[in-house]
This record gives sequence, C-alpha cells and structure tokens, in this order.
Amino acid sequence: MTRADAIDRAHQHLHSGEFLAELDRRVGYQTESQNPDRRGALRAYLEEELQPAFSQLDFATRLVESPTGKGPYLVAEYRENSSAPTVLMYGHGDVVDGMTGEWRDNLDPWRTTTVGNRVYGRGTADNKGQHSINLSALRAVREARGGRLGFNAKFIIETGEEIGSPDLRQVCEQLRDELKADLFVGSDGPRLSADRPTIFLGCRGGIRIHLDVNLRDGSHHSGNWGGVLANPATILASAIAALVDSKGRLLLDALKPPRISNQIRAALADVKIEPMSDEPALSENWGEEGLSAAEQRHPGTGASRSAAPFCRRHQG
Ligand SMILES: [Zn+2]
Repeated sequence: MTRADAIDRAHQHLHSGEFLAELDRRVGYQTESQNPDRRGALRAYLEEELQPAFSQLDFATRLVESPTGKGPYLVAEYRENSSAPTVLMYGHGDVVDGMTGEWRDNLDPWRTTTVGNRVYGRGTADNKGQHSINLSALRAVREARGGRLGFNAKFIIETGEEIGSPDLRQVCEQLRDELKADLFVGSDGPRLSADRPTIFLGCRGGIRIHLDVNLRDGSHHSGNWGGVLANPATILASAIAALVDSKGRLLLDALKPPRISNQIRAALADVKIEPMSDEPALSENWGEEGLSAAEQRHPGTGASRSAAPFCRRHQG
C-alpha cells in the first residue's frame, strides 16, 4: 500500500499494452466537435467508453445536456468518506478535425500508431490520452490501497472544448454545488518540454479582443484620397503599437502583473523550455527584458501575454 506500489501498477498497465489498447479504442471515436455530423460520436464516446470506465471505479455517472444544444457533458462522482478531501478533474472527449489523408506517412488519425516512443492518433495528446492516464492512475491507486482511493473524486468531461467550450461556464454555474471540491486538476494544455512532466500551479486566462476600425463604406483609392481620408489600417496598427512594442514588450503598466517573487523565481530556476526538433526555436530579444523563458511563460507574468497573446494547443 505504498506510492511505489501504485506507480508500479501504472507501469504494468502501460507495459502490458492494456493502456494503449484502451487509448486506441477511444481514439477510434471520431469525436470532432466542429463537425455537425459527429454528434452521435460525441455522445457515444461518453456513453460507451467513459461511463463503463468510471463505473468500474465505482463512480456514479450521468450525462448533462448542453443548454445550448451542443455536445453533452459527463459528470462522474465517487464518494468515499465525507471527511476526506475531494478532487475535481476536468477533461474533454472532443478533438479537432481529424484531417484524414493529410498526416505524415498517411497515418490514420482514428487509430493509434506507435513509432519509437511516440504514439500518434487524433486525441492522444489532447485530450483522450490525458483523461485515460488519469483514469488509469486512479485505478492504480485504488488497487494499491485495497479498493479504496483515500479521497473523494469528481470528474467533468465536456465535448465542446475544441469549439471554445460554448457553455462550460453555464454548466459549471448550474452544477456549482455538485462540482464543489478542495482541489482542481485540469489535465489539458501544453507541456514545457516533451521529456519532463509539467505541472502548472496556476493558469492565466485569455481575453479575446476584437478591434474594428470602420470609418466609412466602400474603398477609396489612395491616388484620389490619400492624405485627406484617415486610414483605418494606420489607426489599427497604432492601437496595437500603443499596447506592445515591436520587441513584444508591454507598454502599459496596467497590463503587467506585479514583479515575480523570489520564491517563484527560485522554483522556476530549474525549469527549461526546450522546443523539440520539429518546433520553432525561441525568439531572441522578444518579450519583457530580464526574464528567463520560464519566467516569461509563468502564469503571473505579463510578458508572456505579449509573446503569446493566445496559446494554440498542440494537437496530437
Ligand atoms: Zn485540450
């Protein structure tokens, strides 16, 4: 009944091939949330794949319909002891467009293919891989503890993350009491490097700003109107240049968080951002001065927002 025992069981689950067989089955569901023809696959993924997996771990599950008619949600709960802490976990069953026929070496997006120590297939890295790992981890802990988890656990799995989680907020507000927990674990989003696990202890939000400069109807030739009609492109460029300079440095103090504390700086000292060979090299002279790459990416650092106004998730 030790931590080592649980880790050992997790290793066994992976090395026996059992985990990959499970993941392969899950990747087989063509759960593209952008594709209206896949509504059935989204529901089937929750009903046929995840509900039985949660039941095996003694979770009670139910589907919650989307209030705006999009893909359903799965809510799962395992209550062991009312005085034990409760963890809430998040995942999503939908994936982006499979792009069949466009993968390198004509890999099939709807099954897993292992090449070396990498596993390819749509959803392996976002997010079927992650929530499958979390389920396996729960199982390993349970087995190591003789059928008990030692804590209470809840899950919410959505099927609309790749279309911007259109009603996740509404559903969470609606289920406020049901989702109450002491700890939230969201296994989704980027890693800093492929060969070292990443745990983010915070997450900055994103605000989408849509700037329009609409001065007049139609287009007006610069030969006739240049110099006497205000140019919307110039106004737009100046608006952006007022917020961030050409080196990615924020110009407005109001956009910057407080200085990084020494404690956070010490924690980040050993964190390296190392792009893989197929990823872009980090830009020199970009972003806030005097910060390491890890400090730039730190959730409390405004500089990272200028370097990456939104974070495009890496899709598997
Ligand atoms: Zn994701």
